[in-house]
Amino acid sequence: MSYGKFGIRQMLCERQASASANFDALEEETEKASTREELVEPGRKRAALAPYIGVSYVSTSQCWNCEEPISSDIQVQCPGCRFYICSSCGSCFS
Ligand SMILES: [Zn+2]
Ligand SMILES: [Zn+2]
Repeated sequence: MSYGKFGIRQMLCERQASASANFDALEEETEKASTREELVEPGRKRAALAPYIGVSYVSTSQCWNCEEPISSDIQVQCPGCRFYICSSCGSCFS
């Protein structure tokens, strides 16, 4: 496959589109998950995809444990305590 004049930009767009699709798919995965363990992994993947689709850590908190940012748009909620699960250390953010 050859990329023309706008090849790089198109490539980035495609990456963004597929990241966005994956992000949505992960959201469905988290909705089906019933245990905390099942939620941690998609939460981590969402955090990894977030930069590609422009989801930022606006209006976030920091993990009390590792001080990584926590965003309600990205992190998943713990079914036990309803707080968000940190994607870096796996702690419930409370
Ligand atoms: Zn919890
Ligand atoms: Zn943490």
